[in-house]
Amino acid sequence: MFDALIRFIREQYRTNEFIPLHAPVFNGREREYVTETIDSTFVSSVGAFVNRFEANMATYTGSPRAVATVNGTAALHVALRLAGVQPGELVITQPLTFVATCNAITYCMAEPLFIDVDRHTMSLSPTALDAWLGEHAQIGDDGFCRTRIEGKVIRACIPMHTFGHPAELDGLVDVCSRWRLMLIEDAAESLGSFYKGRHTGTFGGMGTLSFNGNKIITTGGGGMVLTDDVFGERAKHLTTTAKKPHPYEFFHDEVGYNYRLPNLNAALGCAQLEQIESFVAAKRQLALRYAEQLEGSPLHFFREPEHCRSNYWLNAIICDSFEQRVALLKATNDASVMTRPIWQLMNRLPCFTHCRRGDLSNAEWLEERVVNLPSSVPATSTSEFLT
Ligand SMILES: *Cc1c(COP(=O)(O)O)cnc(C)c1O
Repeated sequence: MFDALIRFIREQYRTNEFIPLHAPVFNGREREYVTETIDSTFVSSVGAFVNRFEANMATYTGSPRAVATVNGTAALHVALRLAGVQPGELVITQPLTFVATCNAITYCMAEPLFIDVDRHTMSLSPTALDAWLGEHAQIGDDGFCRTRIEGKVIRACIPMHTFGHPAELDGLVDVCSRWRLMLIEDAAESLGSFYKGRHTGTFGGMGTLSFNGNKIITTGGGGMVLTDDVFGERAKHLTTTAKKPHPYEFFHDEVGYNYRLPNLNAALGCAQLEQIESFVAAKRQLALRYAEQLEGSPLHFFREPEHCRSNYWLNAIICDSFEQRVALLKATNDASVMTRPIWQLMNRLPCFTHCRRGDLSNAEWLEERVVNLPSSVPATSTSEFLT
């Protein structure tokens, strides 16, 4: 039953070998820039590529500041620290995400609070969020959002743009401002995705990116905090061991982190970022072809939400049933075409089963049905592929 799909995927990548879910493409100036760092000996915590990568990312995303970090998890951790998250507080997120979102909350000794996603975005639902807060929270005399019964502070809210598809940001901005929650977008998967013409990760107090090897651009490992000038200064300070600038003295005015992105990785990032628009174009073409291929089949291809330009980082289909999902995963992986189910919900992981949660029926529905298809930029010349 899935033979046509498997044949179609092999045609896209023109290979009889194993097809991974997402492989990086190095078609630009990666070698040149990386060699430049080696020749200069500045491969580590000092060097020009870090500043350049940050400046270019700020320009591309339209964010006032961009601060590079060792990975996306570290970027989330720093963002939560800057949001003032204290031990014992709650941070709202969606159950349908990669574990990094919840880990970062836990590093602050805070607890995730799980709110449902929307089916048409697979990301945090502003409607579910507002409904849960209306029933279970109130603004205290001190101006903080607190749970009604225990009076626990709910400090922040982290929507995640699943597979690169933007969440309903207008709604989330509105709910978070009414409930005085710091909005932090986990935009790890959505570099190159825009909501109503504005780049994801720039709608709240802070946004975070990841440049892990499987993301749309990679630095090997890396991340970024997108934010304003004030938080940006603080983020830079906290990620560089909180050292006060001085020609030779060592003075650290708080406990900081060694979360700075090495220059070697930033060099790779600069070369990758130069290609972002061609990667997005190739991935959107691929998504269009998937959609055409699957039209009329029982596998429903997931399309970008309205008013968005999605990067289609990972293409996704919604199966009719759990049984069909299992059959599809088996048939494709047996044929050396890598496919993968969506994450198991975070509230099922042993470390998060005790966490508070709202009704999660949309997340549960998607968990049973969503499968990711191979989504790499086809390695053959993209222009040839596009014709
Ligand atoms: C990739 C990813 C991260 C960050 O991962 P790192 O490997 O630490 O860079 C965070 N959240 C989500 C949703 C991700 O997909």
